[in-house]
Amino acid sequence: MRIDVATLFPRAFDYLDLSLVGEAQSRGILDLHRHDIRDFSDDKNKRVDDAPYGGGAGMLMALPPLTRTLDHIRAVGPRGADPHVILMSPRGAPLTQERVRALAARPWLALVCGRYEGLDERLHDPRWIHEEISAGDYVLAGGELPAMVLIEAVARLLPGTLGNAASPAEESFTHGLLEYPQYTRPEEFEGKTVPLILRSGDQKKVDRWRRARALRLTFLRRPDLLGKADLTEAEKRLADWWKKADKTPSKS
Ligand code: SAH
Repeated sequence: MRIDVATLFPRAFDYLDLSLVGEAQSRGILDLHRHDIRDFSDDKNKRVDDAPYGGGAGMLMALPPLTRTLDHIRAVGPRGADPHVILMSPRGAPLTQERVRALAARPWLALVCGRYEGLDERLHDPRWIHEEISAGDYVLAGGELPAMVLIEAVARLLPGTLGNAASPAEESFTHGLLEYPQYTRPEEFEGKTVPLILRSGDQKKVDRWRRARALRLTFLRRPDLLGKADLTEAEKRLADWWKKADKTPSKS
């Protein structure tokens, strides 16, 4: 998979050279390219911002350097292909695991990181931007951290990135539920023990326990997820019963 990033701070992306995403890059699973929007300014002082029409606080990123950066990305990328261009923006669609999965299936993404008070509205045109994505309902100083969040979430889904290929199938949000609680050695720590069933060696029982715990955890922490979760009829009835009877299972 190829990802190009348009940013005023290419060095911010050094973080992605570490650990899992760094390994995905060195193993050729992810091909990441950074482009400095400032290089595409034709101003002698390399300015990329300007004051907003109508007045008001702060500066905006001007169009020409941005569209030139996107043209450059298209020109240096694979011939005959087009990148799916995403603008990182607080007004975009929230980044969810479902969206991450859809993006991980694409061969080529280009991410645009805003700065200052944002960008000239006219960039929002299918010629340049295909989707807007938000990291959450809060405002950051730039799109770099949201872009890195997106890249890391996508990279760990690419085949061959995770050591244990089975793990993305089990984790939080995959079936619309949070992940079940996990334990590792030591078996007993300051009076707290690992649930017996996990040491029983009975995989069927372990799987059933994990599923029940995932359901219970999601009911307690994120009941909003249950509506869309992949539940059996019995699980739906159980969740409804918890809700109606307010039989809140003990916190854990
Ligand atoms: N004035 C804008 C915020 C600008 S913040 C507004 O009120 O909506 C500057 C840049 O940071 C944005 O253009 C965007 O690229 C990035 N950014 C800030 N918060 C973000 C978020 N929650 N998700 C994605 N990008 C964000």
